[in-house]
Amino acid sequence: MATSDRDRLSDRLFAAKSALVIAHIMPDADTLGAALGLGLSLRSLGMTVHLACADPVPTELRFLPSAQEVQPRLYAGEEIIVTVDISDQQRIGMLYDEKIFSTVPVLVIDHHITNTRFGALNWVAEVPATSEMILELLQAHNVTISLDAATCLLAGIIGDTQCFLTSNTSPSSLIAAAQLQELGAPLREIATTVLNRRPTSALAVWREAFINACQEPGIILTTLGSAFLRSVSADDSSTNGLSSWLAGLDGVLISAVLREADDGSVDVSMRSAPEINIAVVAQNLGGGGHPQAAGCVLAGPLSSASERLLAELRPLTARPAPVEELVH
Ligand code: AMP
Ligand code: MN
Ligand code: MN
Repeated sequence: MATSDRDRLSDRLFAAKSALVIAHIMPDADTLGAALGLGLSLRSLGMTVHLACADPVPTELRFLPSAQEVQPRLYAGEEIIVTVDISDQQRIGMLYDEKIFSTVPVLVIDHHITNTRFGALNWVAEVPATSEMILELLQAHNVTISLDAATCLLAGIIGDTQCFLTSNTSPSSLIAAAQLQELGAPLREIATTVLNRRPTSALAVWREAFINACQEPGIILTTLGSAFLRSVSADDSSTNGLSSWLAGLDGVLISAVLREADDGSVDVSMRSAPEINIAVVAQNLGGGGHPQAAGCVLAGPLSSASERLLAELRPLTARPAPVEELVH
């Protein structure tokens, strides 16, 4: 049987004595769940593991076991670098160093169709969550999964599937979740925390987003300015769930939330109805993601970023022109 990408990657992974495991910028439950689930499990095998992320862990995800270990730490001589839930180098943020990443073996484990395969070994699978891939990897290697690791992995699956509600939720995700629950992972506590807990700043941020929302046929778009975000001390995670909520409004096929960063760039979060693929749009604009959940970073100001995005989105929502009756 031909060796699969997974097996090639896992051979190198389990042969290492030390690893730096990196989660993506503005971390979510899946990247943190995958990094922690993998890191804790590798450590139980005797490997030295350091966990890194360029941005802080959001308050509502600090319940994840060992979350405090995830720090903006630089490469410190580990044998390999493992990136989880990261589709391209930009998502590593300020921890990316071209020289180090071209000399140390980089192992990429990810589930984004837009993954650029920037590692020496890349395992990219079409599953709803990277955390599900980590579970598969550990099971294939007969690694005992602790309650803490199981909790992290279940948080990742619940986060990316919005508790099994997204259109890509597969039987495999439900089976993985059931196995993790059997290991003791508290499904209800994880789901309510990951999906419902928000920083206090979310109240002001969502209010502003609703006020600024503009609608046109099939599309809803809203903007958040950097001066406003600073004035309410907005956390990175204050917009979590906002683009999904907007996408649920009647008649909306695509939602977009544009956040202006302090450096003037604009972070875009998009969601779409199942018949519309916004990963393509995000990729054309230099970003990436999934067919129904994608993002990118655009040049500011907010007004020109909005126009640029709308120009890409409008053709996707245009209804086909009625077919003219054939005259015989
Ligand atoms: P979010 O809207 O932040 O929840 O992100 C939705 C999806 O888009 C996630 O899978 C992200 O990994 C991906 N994504 C968001 N922003 C970017 C970006 N700037 N570049 C590549 N992928 C992104
Ligand atoms: Mn993610
Ligand atoms: Mn993910």
